[in-house]
Amino acid sequence: MTAIDAGALPRFATLDPVTGEEIDTFPVDDERSVREKVDRARRASAAWDRLGHAGRRQLLLAWRRVMARRLPEIIALMERENGKVKADALIEMTAALTHLDWAARHSGKVLRRRRVPSGLLMANQYATVEYRPFGVIGVIGPWNYPVHTPLGSLAYALAAGNAVVFKPSEYTPAIGAWLADTFAEAVPGHDVLVLATGDGGTGAALCTACVDKIAFTGSARTGARVLAACAPSLTPVLLELGGKDALVVAADADVDAAVESALWGACSNAGQSCAGIERVYVAAPVYERFLGRCAERARELRAGTDFGPVTMPGQLDVIRRHIDDALARGGRAVVGGPESVRPPYVLGPVVLADVPEDSAAVREETFGPVLVVNRVADAEEGVERANASAYGLGGAVFARRGGLRLAERMRTGMVSVNDVLSFPAVPSLPFGGRGASGFGRIHGPDGLREFTVPKAVTRKLFDVPLTVSSYARGAKDMQRLQRLVTFINSR
Ligand code: NDP
Repeated sequence: MTAIDAGALPRFATLDPVTGEEIDTFPVDDERSVREKVDRARRASAAWDRLGHAGRRQLLLAWRRVMARRLPEIIALMERENGKVKADALIEMTAALTHLDWAARHSGKVLRRRRVPSGLLMANQYATVEYRPFGVIGVIGPWNYPVHTPLGSLAYALAAGNAVVFKPSEYTPAIGAWLADTFAEAVPGHDVLVLATGDGGTGAALCTACVDKIAFTGSARTGARVLAACAPSLTPVLLELGGKDALVVAADADVDAAVESALWGACSNAGQSCAGIERVYVAAPVYERFLGRCAERARELRAGTDFGPVTMPGQLDVIRRHIDDALARGGRAVVGGPESVRPPYVLGPVVLADVPEDSAAVREETFGPVLVVNRVADAEEGVERANASAYGLGGAVFARRGGLRLAERMRTGMVSVNDVLSFPAVPSLPFGGRGASGFGRIHGPDGLREFTVPKAVTRKLFDVPLTVSSYARGAKDMQRLQRLVTFINSR
């Protein structure tokens, strides 16, 4: 395939969500150029695999150092292209670098060949399992955590020995390009992180460009499209989708701490977090205290200082619709209301109370600084309501006693007890959900294995007196086998 001149492709602009100013322009990769990029990545993948875990570890740690050195630059870009406040950008980078470090240092230990017991019947076999890279992974990322989220796939896929073609969101291509540039600076000569820019069409092209696996992070609706696009070629898919995470407050909880966490979980990153807290179920004995304190603290938070604008203009309509629908169905606006939605901001947190469970603000992903606070009889009922969602990403429980038991009953992939959003920053924990929140895992040992094919190998060590899997066997062999099987399985 001939190389595509990127200059010949149409270009699109990335804009500052606050001022609307153009930041830069990028090519819209089409089917042909995406395929060419996948071919490029594939050519580079064999040498990357041959480096082994120790070799890749050195290079990935060098990438981490380059990113750490250029931290002020990426924080400024995240503020500009993504609208994040500095604190949110720094927190995102802290978690992202932690994951890169962990993946680089642990891939060998988790994925290397190891001997496993071969069992009595196969005692003459030396059995091993190892985790081999797929080859080329297509990573499709969202805009809300434009570094941390793609890096949850990129770092682990690269550490496992794959090459990657990375398609960032059309809202954050400059941040995606920064990731690719820093990689090229730290790891010259290994063309294993290839950037493809464009819109949804470019993402769709990547799904059918003969990659070995797609790691998709985004909405449930687009996730379903990705799954359908990958089905004809049986390309495996990892889906990290949206959420409608709930926080359950038990009657014995530290109410002030729960309020602080609820507001931070709802408003950090302007509420644009897949695992952000969107619903709170408070046990009746502490409900009024929680709501009063929550309202008091919410009134002190400000858009522009404590959290940034809503990055995607269309999302403001969704946020307003959810607030309107909640109020029309009998919910109460305790802080803010529809008037809080003033493009490009939601001016301050919107706290809604007593919102019917069938309203959009309870059922659908709001993706803004909006918190629904509902009363339940006790924490058990809170968990039941939390679980009555199509999504199942994360969640939180505040309780002085029995928190772990409540956490166990949450139908989600992750839960924080007496805190919120703590799990994404623990690198050895798997991240991912169930139900409409998707399947597969990033982060931790499971996240490394997600980008590999388990390979089972047996090596015959010696001949056994019992011949079974050969036509040289005799009737006596089979009689002996029967006696042996009966003996082993009767114990
Ligand atoms: P989208 O689903 O709109 O887009 C995600 C990515 O898919 C973008 O790069 C997008 O490109 C691309 N895309 C769009 N159409 C297609 C297609 N037909 N085939 C392939 N790719 C396509 O999500 P958002 O970017 O709006 O991100 C927000 C969503 O992501 C929320 O639902 C959030 O909860 C979820 N999310 C989940 C996380 C998790 O780990 N579970 C983490 C972070 C976010 P383009 O932008 O150019 O259209």
